Parts: sequence; C-alpha cells; structure tokens
Amino acid sequence: MGKLGIALVGLGRYSAGQLAPALKETEHCYLAGIVTGTPSKVDKWKKDYDIPDQNVYNYQNFDEIKNNPEIDIIYVVLPNALHAEYVVRAAAAGKHVICEKPMAVTVEDCDKMIKACNEAGKMLSIGYRLHFEPHNKEMMRTGKEKPFGNIIKLKAGNGMSDTEGWRLDKKLAGGGPLMDVGIYCVQGCRYTTGMEPVSITAKETPKTRPEQFVSLEEGLTWQMKFPNGIIAECNTSYSKNMNLLRADCEKGWAELSPAYAYGGIKGNTSEGKMDFPQVNQQARQMDDFAVAIKEKRPTRVPGEMGRQDVKILQAIYQAMETQREVFL
Ligand code: NAD
Repeated sequence: MGKLGIALVGLGRYSAGQLAPALKETEHCYLAGIVTGTPSKVDKWKKDYDIPDQNVYNYQNFDEIKNNPEIDIIYVVLPNALHAEYVVRAAAAGKHVICEKPMAVTVEDCDKMIKACNEAGKMLSIGYRLHFEPHNKEMMRTGKEKPFGNIIKLKAGNGMSDTEGWRLDKKLAGGGPLMDVGIYCVQGCRYTTGMEPVSITAKETPKTRPEQFVSLEEGLTWQMKFPNGIIAECNTSYSKNMNLLRADCEKGWAELSPAYAYGGIKGNTSEGKMDFPQVNQQARQMDDFAVAIKEKRPTRVPGEMGRQDVKILQAIYQAMETQREVFL
C-alpha cells in the first residue's frame, strides 16, 4: 500500500490552516480530495493541493465518494453538531474515518458513529493530535512511570479571550468553551493519570458579556475526582487566555504551558526544563492513523476515547446545572 488518500470534509480554518498543510508533510497519507459547500473555494484548493476534478465533492453528492478508490480516509472537520451525520455517511460509503473533537454533542450520537464504523468494518479515530506531541507524551509518562511518585493533584486550564461564528450557536457547538477548548483539560487529566474521573462538581463563571452568551456558558470551572484521591482543578473560558496542564506529585511536579497549542509547547518539571522537539502534531496524528490502517492495528485515539470525553463533558454540564456532585 502506498500513501492513503484523505478527503477533508469542511474547508474552514482548521482544515485550511493546519490539516491540509500537514498533509504536505505526511509520509503515509496525502490530501486526495475535498468536500465543501462553498464552490468559490474549490479552484484554489485544487491548485494548491493538486486535486483532480473527480475528487471534489459537495454535501449533496458526498455519498458518491464510495465509488472513489482514491479516497481511503474521510476526515470530518465540520461544526461539532454535524460530526455524527458525516461520520455515519462516511462509514456507509465504506471509508475509514477521522472525526474532529469533540466527537459529537451527545453520547447517543457517539454510539451511532461507533456502531456505523464497526458495521462497515472501518476504523474511527478522533483528531486528538496531542497524543503524538512529545511534551504531552511526557505527561503521560509522568503518570505511568511515576518519576516524581504518585500524582496528588492536577491543574488544567484552556481558554481564549473571544470567539465567533458557529461556536456561539448552541445547536451547532453543543455548548460553550467546554466543548471547544475545555475538552483538552479533560483529555489532559485523563492521559496524564491514565485513569478515569469518578465524580465531578462544576460552577459557571459569572458572565461579563451576557448578550453574547445567551444559552452558553462564557466560562466554567470544574473539579474531577480520580481514583487514589487525585483531584483535578480545571478551568475553561471564552473571555480569558489560559493554556496549562500541571501535575503535582509526591516528590516533584511537571507542567506544560502552553500545553495544547499547535506548536511552541513548553514543559518544566521540578528537575528542570523539558527538552523535546516541536513536531507537526497533525502530520504525526494522520500518519499514525494511516499506518494503523495499513498494519491493521488499533488507532491510539479511537472513537471510544472521544465518546468517553463527551460523556464527561455532559456530566460537567449536569454538575454545573444541578450544582451537585455528579458520579460517573
Ligand atoms: P470553521 O468555522 O473555521 O470551519 C467550519 C467549516 O464547516 C466551514 O468551512 C463551514 O463552511 C463549514 N460548514 C458546513 N456546514 C456548516 C454550517 N451549517 N454552519 C457553519 N459552518 C458550516 O471551524 P474550524 O475551526 O475549522 O472547526 C471545525 C471543527 O474542527 C470543529 O469541530 C472544531 O472543534 C475542530 N477543531 C479542532 C482543532 C484541533 O486542534 N484538533 C482545532 C480547530 C478546530
């Protein structure tokens, strides 16, 4: 098998700014096709990425992609609430699928997506690029090999000072900053400890722009209890810049800041600065999936991992709304 062909569905900022450029660096896959509802984008994409006419689709004729042997993988990069429909259609077209985070806006949708891919005998992966990033992998090692002893406490924050577009529309986004960027804190605490949270409490941050955040949280703090008494304090916001993942352990600590950015990740520990290279996270993530398909081995970031995050996000909202501890 040579390079596998990927078709990007949705040519917005993440596709144009990160995924497509990364596909110029990948060794096991390449950008073979595009699916877009905006005809005016097509010419530039065809030219920039050498995409032939027959590999250009829109949302109406998308299902015909099943007849295209040049497309092996469909990568869904649409607003959150549309992920489920397009993953199910991609599986029905007999293609392997990568879906962006958050996997969907409900656990029920995640179940449908996993079922559709299983029934089609196709692999499903979530766009969790940080599993392929060396500093974040070091946080995983901190929990697993315990160089500083057991983890006692975690701190995670991810926020930005503003947002716009569909991210402010609850129907399309499924929620506010928690769905968009807070999810990285949930992921970070899960992959650092290698454990699952057992209970959650949460509190909405007072709104500074209530007119903009009518049905969404503007910010949110939450606490997750993990086994062995580990406590994670987390924070997300659309009005404050934050980018932190920290583990305090019995004999030391490890911290990334920024932790979740596309590049420039910086890490420190109680023993000094982390010394790891910056990598093209998206290229590594997509290459790993292509190799997993070729070698018929599981992906490191499967649909089940995305589903568990969505389940936790829903529990965080439930804790916020009820002001009670929610047990998972
Ligand atoms: P974007 O708004 O820049 O792009 C979304 C695309 O979807 C646009 O091309 C738009 O035309 C298209 N679209 C189709 N139907 C639409 C509809 N009904 N309403 C609005 N747009 C519609 O968004 P983005 O930043 O590229 O995010 C897309 C997905 O990728 C989201 O799920 C997001 O969470 C995820 N994402 C992941 C990362 C990451 O680091 N893994 C980074 C950014 C975005």
